[in-house]
Amino acid sequence: MTERIHTKVLVVGGGPGGYVAAIRAGQLGLDTTLVEADTLGGTCLIRGCIPSKAMIHVAAEFESMALAAAKGLNGITLSAPPALDMAKTVKWKDGIVGKLNGGVAALLKRAKVRVVDGWAEFSDAKTCSVVRKDGATTTIVAEHVILANGSLPVSLPHIPFGGAVISSTEALSLETLPKKLVVVGAGYIGLELGIAFRKMGAEVAVVEALDRILPLYDAQLVEPVHKWLVKHGVTLHLGAKAKAVATKKNGAVLSVEAKDGTTLELPADKILVTVGRKPNTEGWGIENMAVDLDGRFVRVDDQCRTSMKDVWAIGDLVGEPMLAHKASAQGEMVAEIIAGHKRRFNPVSIAAVCFTEPEIVSAGLLPDEAARNDVITAQFPFSANGRALSMDAQDGFVRVVARADDHRILGIQAVGAHVSELSAEFAHALEMGATLEDIAGTIHVHPTLSEAFHESALRALGHAIHI
Ligand code: FAD
Ligand code: NAD
Repeated sequence: MTERIHTKVLVVGGGPGGYVAAIRAGQLGLDTTLVEADTLGGTCLIRGCIPSKAMIHVAAEFESMALAAAKGLNGITLSAPPALDMAKTVKWKDGIVGKLNGGVAALLKRAKVRVVDGWAEFSDAKTCSVVRKDGATTTIVAEHVILANGSLPVSLPHIPFGGAVISSTEALSLETLPKKLVVVGAGYIGLELGIAFRKMGAEVAVVEALDRILPLYDAQLVEPVHKWLVKHGVTLHLGAKAKAVATKKNGAVLSVEAKDGTTLELPADKILVTVGRKPNTEGWGIENMAVDLDGRFVRVDDQCRTSMKDVWAIGDLVGEPMLAHKASAQGEMVAEIIAGHKRRFNPVSIAAVCFTEPEIVSAGLLPDEAARNDVITAQFPFSANGRALSMDAQDGFVRVVARADDHRILGIQAVGAHVSELSAEFAHALEMGATLEDIAGTIHVHPTLSEAFHESALRALGHAIHI
C-alpha cells in the first residue's frame, strides 16, 4: 500500500537537529512531517551524548567506591571493593535513553508533528519515499525540506568495525567490561569513554596519530587530563599509527607503529576506534536533489540554506562543530525562517565541553587564536577556590582572554571537575559582548566554581582578591 502525504515542512532525521526543527515548526503552526529511520533522539540521545554521560557518571561513582575500599576516601571506608555488573549498568542507561526517546515522541505529538518511521529516499529535491517499518510505503511531497541526517563514525580502512573492533555505539552497550581496551584516537569520544572504562577497572591504552591528546585545545588546558591519564596508568602511544588487527581466540592484537618506528603489538579484548565522524550523505538520494557539497559536508549559507531552493540542512551534516547544541540551534532557526522570521546563524561562540577527567570547556577564542589582537590573558586556579577544595577537586583553572584596549572578552576556557556547568555563563558573557568589568561587577554566588571566573576577570584587571 502506498500513502501520499503533502506537507509544508519535511524534516529528515530525528536527532537534536531534526526533532528540534520539527517541534519549532509545529509550534509555529506549520504542517510538519518528520521521518526517522531508527529511533527518535538520533545519535545524541540514543548512542551519543546522553548514554556516554550516563556511563561516565557510573564510572565516577564506581571509582570513588573503589578508592574508599582500597585506601579510604576523605574518611569513608568500605569493607569490600565494589562490584560492577555491566549488563545492569547498560540496562539502567537504556532506561534513560528510553525515557528521552518517549519524551521526544510526546513533544513532537504535542507540536502536532506527523512522524513517519522509515528510511527516506529522495527522487527529487522535494519528494521522498519512505519504506515504513510495517512494510508500507509513504511518498512525501514537501514545500520545504530540512535535512538533518547527522553523522556516522569514521572507520579505518585496514581496521574495519566488526568483532573486537568497535565504535562508540557498541562501546556504550557492552554487557561485560573489557579487561584490556585499546582506544584509537585521543579526541572527544576516545578520551571520554577511555577514561570511563579506566575508572571502571579496564586496562586502557590509547593510540593517537598526533603528538598530543585532544588536539583541539591548547596544551595548558589539556595538561590536567594528561596528568590524570598518566597517574591512572593509561598507556599513551602518541605520534603512533594503528596498522593492522589480528583476531585471536579471546580478543585481538593491534599492531601499532610507534613514533620511533618500532612496531608494538597491543593485546585487547576490545579496540575502540574513535578517529572522528563523517556526515551521513549516502544512501538517501542526495545526488537527486541538486544540493552542493562543501568537501564531505552539505554546503549551507548563514541561514542553513543549501544550493537548492527551500532545501535546508543543519547539524552534523553541514560541518564542524559536530555538537548537539549547534544542531538544535540551527534547527530552531530554520523553522523560524520558514515561518517568516528574520534569522541568521551568527553566534559569537558555540561553547564546547569535553567530559574527560577533569572536564574541559572552551567558549570563544583560545589565547593563540586571539593573538592577532592585543590581548590580556589571566587565569585563576581551582586550588584557590573554596568550592573546588570542598569537592576535593583542586586541579584546573578558569582562563579569560580579553582585548587589551576595551577589555571586551574574546574567549573563556576552564579545566576542572564539573566545569561543564560553567559553559552557559561563558557562552552568555560572550554573546552579550561582556567586558572584564561586567564580569568583575557581577556578584557570583559563594561558594561556587563560578567564582573562579569572577576572579579570573579581576586578575585580568590587576586586582584579584584570592590570589
Ligand atoms: P544525529 O543526532 O546524528 O541524527 C540524525 C538522525 O537522522 C539519526 O537518528 C538517523 O537515523 C536519521 N537519518 C539519517 N538519514 C535518514 C534517512 N534517510 N531517513 C530517515 N532517517 C534518517 N555532542 C555534544 O554536543 N555533547 C556531547 O556530550 C556529545 N557526546 C557525544 C558522544 C558520542 C559517543 C557521540 C557519538 C557523539 C556525541 N556528540 C556530542 C555529538 C552529537 O551526538 C551530534 O553532534 C548530534 O547528535 C548531531 O545531531 P544531528 O541532529 O545533526 O544528527
Ligand atoms: P575527534 O575528532 O574528537 O578525535 C579524533 C582523534 O583521532 C584526533 O585526536 C585525531 O588526531 C585522531 N586520529 C585520527 N586518525 C587517526 C588514526 N588513523 N590513528 C590514530 N589517531 C587518529 O573525533 P571523535 O572522538 O571520534 O568524536 C567525533 C565528534 O563527535 C567530535 O568531533 C565531536 O564533534 C563529537 N563529540 C562531542 C562530544 C562532546 O561535545 N563532549 C563528545 C563526543 C563526541
